[in-house]
Amino acid sequence: MEITLGAAPPVSHVRSRFPYAPRSIWKGVAEDQWNDWHWQQRERVTSLEQLDHVIRLTDDERRAVIEADAQFHMGITPYYAALMDPEDPTCPVRLQSVPTMGELSFAAADLDDPLAEERDMPVPGITHRYPDRVLFYTTHNCPVYCRHCTRKRKVADPTSAAAKSQIEQSLAYIALHTEIRDVVVSGGDPLSLSDDRLDYILGRLRAIPHVEIFRLGTRNLVTLPQRITDDLVAMLKGHQPVYVNTHFNHPRECTGEAFDAARRLADGGCVIGNQMVLLKGINDDPRIVRELNHKLLMMRIRPYYIYQCDLAKGISHFRTPIEAGRRIIRSLRGHTSGMAVPYFVVDAPNGGGKIPVNPDYVVRHEGKRWVLRNFAGKEFTYDEP
Ligand SMILES: *Cc1c(COP(=O)(O)O)cnc(C)c1O
Ligand code: SF4
Repeated sequence: MEITLGAAPPVSHVRSRFPYAPRSIWKGVAEDQWNDWHWQQRERVTSLEQLDHVIRLTDDERRAVIEADAQFHMGITPYYAALMDPEDPTCPVRLQSVPTMGELSFAAADLDDPLAEERDMPVPGITHRYPDRVLFYTTHNCPVYCRHCTRKRKVADPTSAAAKSQIEQSLAYIALHTEIRDVVVSGGDPLSLSDDRLDYILGRLRAIPHVEIFRLGTRNLVTLPQRITDDLVAMLKGHQPVYVNTHFNHPRECTGEAFDAARRLADGGCVIGNQMVLLKGINDDPRIVRELNHKLLMMRIRPYYIYQCDLAKGISHFRTPIEAGRRIIRSLRGHTSGMAVPYFVVDAPNGGGKIPVNPDYVVRHEGKRWVLRNFAGKEFTYDEP
């Protein structure tokens, strides 16, 4: 399949292995080892010494790798690390996975639990905020620890891992509350669990009559696509309907491996959506989001949300004005496939939930007369009969 979009390089068609990392420490690794997710998981880059072999570190990064570790560990799969530009500290993959000193400067507005997820927790491991659906935390591990993570307070902290008893408590809560028809299986990354463990949890959810659908919130498609094995897909097939919400932030992440992983999931009947986080210097540019969303559609992934970067501690250097997101939506709506236009939302502090802040196309309305503006800026009047 030929993938070319405008003048952009056809990244998703390129083998991701070592495209930018001539100094890579994995040159001698055999193909089948590289494609084994257990190997990828085991060989994650977690120390300054290892990282030094992968990229040419700046002084700022060097300091941050050591000093930020106490706040939030570093962890990068070899696959994701090989997508980094070793010479360019502004590389979007690098900015998402290598600490910078920005993480250690806290803004006055920063909050420990920006979405009040702990407050809306009826039992540990469940956030129940909306009437008919819940967030269900199953693990606090992820293959790559994203520097912009909103759950920094918990993710990567082994002491806060969801114990077996907590999972049972959460399942009991869902079984008891007949209004819950949609369960977001989250974490951390639920694909950090073994197939057997996940099979068990999904089987238990499937056995609850009022649970109609569940969604897996996972970034493995981006950070460890090797995790999407035929065995995993066969297991998920037994629990359909399964929705998968993933988290691509930049077209550089749309590699051949990611493409294959998405194809396996979609062929297995999973419906895949993308939740992008708007990040300064990474994707706060309409051309980048447009290229990303076009690539995602070719991967059978539907852009679902763009999130305003929230008020979590240590991510203020990624935050953009809300207007940057609205500008991106305006640049998409009408100019390209409607399917490439997600909702832009602010997950409101203090548990307000996701609130859409999309641009408004209603200029004014008086009685039955509506004055509307189309994508090209022209005004039209609709008179209600
Ligand atoms: C995001 C979220 C959901 C799911 O919201 P949708 O708009 O249905 O995708 C459910 N519960 C919590 C607490 C959430 O943050
Ligand atoms: S995959 Fe998700 S939960 Fe894990 S570190 Fe990244 S943003 Fe946080």
